[in-house]
Amino acid sequence: MNSTSSSWQHALANAFTDVDSLCQYLKIQPEQLSVLRNFPTFPLKVPLEFAALMEIGNPEDPLLRQVLPIQPELEDHQGFVADPVGDLPAVANDGVIHKYQARVLLITTGACAINCRYCFRRNFPYSDLQLSSRKTQQAIDYITANPEITEVILSGGDPLLLSDDKLNALLQTLNTIPHLQRIRIHSRIPVVLPSRITPSLLALLKNSRCPVLMVLHCNHAREISSQLAEACKQLRQHGIVLLNQSVLLKGVNDNAHVLCELSEQLFTLGVMPYYLHQLDKAKGVAHFEVDDQTALDLYEIIKRRLPGYLVPKLVREKAGAPYKLNLY
Ligand SMILES: *Cc1c(COP(=O)(O)O)cnc(C)c1O
Ligand code: SF4
Repeated sequence: MNSTSSSWQHALANAFTDVDSLCQYLKIQPEQLSVLRNFPTFPLKVPLEFAALMEIGNPEDPLLRQVLPIQPELEDHQGFVADPVGDLPAVANDGVIHKYQARVLLITTGACAINCRYCFRRNFPYSDLQLSSRKTQQAIDYITANPEITEVILSGGDPLLLSDDKLNALLQTLNTIPHLQRIRIHSRIPVVLPSRITPSLLALLKNSRCPVLMVLHCNHAREISSQLAEACKQLRQHGIVLLNQSVLLKGVNDNAHVLCELSEQLFTLGVMPYYLHQLDKAKGVAHFEVDDQTALDLYEIIKRRLPGYLVPKLVREKAGAPYKLNLY
């Protein structure tokens, strides 16, 4: 670690990247799980802060299941394709996705702090993709020229992997666009690498002229750590509105009790449930699929049990649709 790296960068550099060390840490036998040891295009990547939330000795742990490469990823299944939502050509070209009215999504970086096995990014090793200064300028020009755009979503990859300096420069530039009203950050980092929520990050978010919303990505109440709770408290004290999106995943959270507990625990952190996504059908993720009827049955139980404001919208992304489609 050089003297300028901060502790979150150190934590990231020391994330688990091989199956055997993670299994050893968790005291489980890799053979029990038919693990894939060699997956160069989308390797195992798990920060210790997240691994520490997994249950020692439990090969079925719902957090482990989200990150451990296993044999079923190699199977072909009908309807599971490389680019299920039709985003990736746009990503590669200019880093701006203007799919919905009045809001655009900016791919700020291709990298994430964790590799989630169910993610549609898995088929595109674009971890080197960065919003270059030329592309950033093009994105700013595009937003400036389109006054109907009122919200920018920083996505990726994970935008909180940008350095404070880069993020600050981007926010400051966006804040000079007069018709922009909100800046939204989609990030799994507060959940998987909460040490990233540093005082300097909080200060630069608070400095934004446009109010900042952050949409977290938490799939199970067991992902909620005391460090995440503290990060959320700090974010809220700095004026950030917090929402959460989850993906419905077989063997992880396809259970009404688990989903209710997630919403209730998030509420205690001041995080409101936003979306519960049906899986994007990317190649290699079929073993995570929950069929629509099962999803709707679960949803019925949740709607009965929880107050309406703790029920996330159950949605599916459909290529070409003008918004995320309700399943119900
Ligand atoms: C999900 C998504 C958004 C945001 O949609 P909201 O319904 O506003 O949360 C914007 N652009 C793209 C390309 C998306 O996939
Ligand atoms: S984009 Fe989100 S879901 Fe996909 S690997 Fe990164 S953190 Fe995980």
